[in-house]
Amino acid sequence: MDENLLGIIKKNTTGILSSLPAGVTMVAAAKTRTPDEVKAVIESGVKILGYNYVQEAESMHEIIGNTVKWHMIGHLQRNKVKKAVRLFDMIETIDSEELALEVNRQCAAMNKIMPVLVEINSGKESNKTGILPEEAEKLILYISGLPYLQVQGLMTMGPRFGKPEKARPYFKTTKSLFDLIKQAGIPNIAMRHLSMGMSNSYKIAIEEGANIIRIGTLLFGGRNS
Ligand SMILES: *Cc1c(COP(=O)(O)O)cnc(C)c1O
Repeated sequence: MDENLLGIIKKNTTGILSSLPAGVTMVAAAKTRTPDEVKAVIESGVKILGYNYVQEAESMHEIIGNTVKWHMIGHLQRNKVKKAVRLFDMIETIDSEELALEVNRQCAAMNKIMPVLVEINSGKESNKTGILPEEAEKLILYISGLPYLQVQGLMTMGPRFGKPEKARPYFKTTKSLFDLIKQAGIPNIAMRHLSMGMSNSYKIAIEEGANIIRIGTLLFGGRNS
């Protein structure tokens, strides 16, 4: 492994972490990265790893273990839920009653309460995962009745490319929804996390109220895919 590259990753990580306002947590979006690269961000202060696939997280978990927290940030397939609830400390991507119910079922079997975020399709793009903003409260009411899930906030992707400013309206929509649901007084939920913003948009996301950002490229460099 290229020591120079690991040095750059450490410098990137320290730089971003030291620039974040108090109360904002960074999840390192670690898809496709090697164990050495992942260890480099952890040594530089990262406390949470985000993965898009259960299988990839599982392999890395065998190497890294529970020295950090593990967040599911990708679309979760129902046939992967059993493994996912064993592995992850939070699932950021709940977007349907069916998925929530299956997470509840698997968590019940191992007597684990899973913190979850509801993923909002703030851009209303049909090819994207997440639930439409206007359907979110109904889903959260449903989840509030499931004993093994605790809703702790919302997550959204927003546009991946293009000018960062383009993402602002999507973040605003998600923050408004967050505030609305917080004020609705739904039992058994704790609206405390708002996960929005990636490498190109995290500064704007923070301005719009994000307290979890998910960063890959700015830490590790571009992905070769
Ligand atoms: C890859 C990924 C990120 C990070 O994206 P970058 O542009 O590399 O910072 C954030 N969130 C999710 C869900 C991702 O899949």
